[in-house]
Amino acid sequence: MEICAICAEHEATTRDHVPPKSIFPRPRPGNLITVPACAECNNGASDLDDLFKVYLSMQAAANSEIAARLFREKTVRTLKRNQRLLNKLQEESAQIEVTTEEGRIETRTGYLWDSVAHDAVIERTIRGLYWHHWGAPLTRDATLSVQWLQTIPDQVLEKISLFNEVALGDDQVVYKYIISTDDPRFSLWFFDFYGAHWASGYTQPTVI
Ligand SMILES: [Zn+2]
Repeated sequence: MEICAICAEHEATTRDHVPPKSIFPRPRPGNLITVPACAECNNGASDLDDLFKVYLSMQAAANSEIAARLFREKTVRTLKRNQRLLNKLQEESAQIEVTTEEGRIETRTGYLWDSVAHDAVIERTIRGLYWHHWGAPLTRDATLSVQWLQTIPDQVLEKISLFNEVALGDDQVVYKYIISTDDPRFSLWFFDFYGAHWASGYTQPTVI
């Protein structure tokens, strides 16, 4: 039997996109990645994927024409169907002052990401991509941590040529990763979504 790439525990009965296909507007890139997944891991994911798509498209729409299309074609529809999410966005929004490129100060509406959805989607994406590139799931004696990034740290940029790089679609998602061949429980991952949102994660042996 084939084991689920995400939980490394249950039988895989379906395939799951990593990162989730919902963050790509149609026509979707031809090189999206799927991995074997159990029903539980696959079904549990779609609400979180929806949330991730909504926040990502709101953050990235100003930076990227494709992200703006994601917002217009998918996010608007999701919000029309989901009054609860729309209310949550409005409750959690705040007026923030930003300095424009011309140096003017303007007030804009800012939205706080749902960090639970964010971290869950990044974690599942890393687990799936780990399986895809390493050929086996991350073992259960390893721990995965997700981090938010404002930018990619300098120490990493110096060593980035050692990383493998993969671009999905028209650079809609670019990720870099390295998996230790000495102990594959160590791995490091950086994601660039639409040139507007960055995240990273790492795995290491679980400290008991
Ligand atoms: Zn699973």
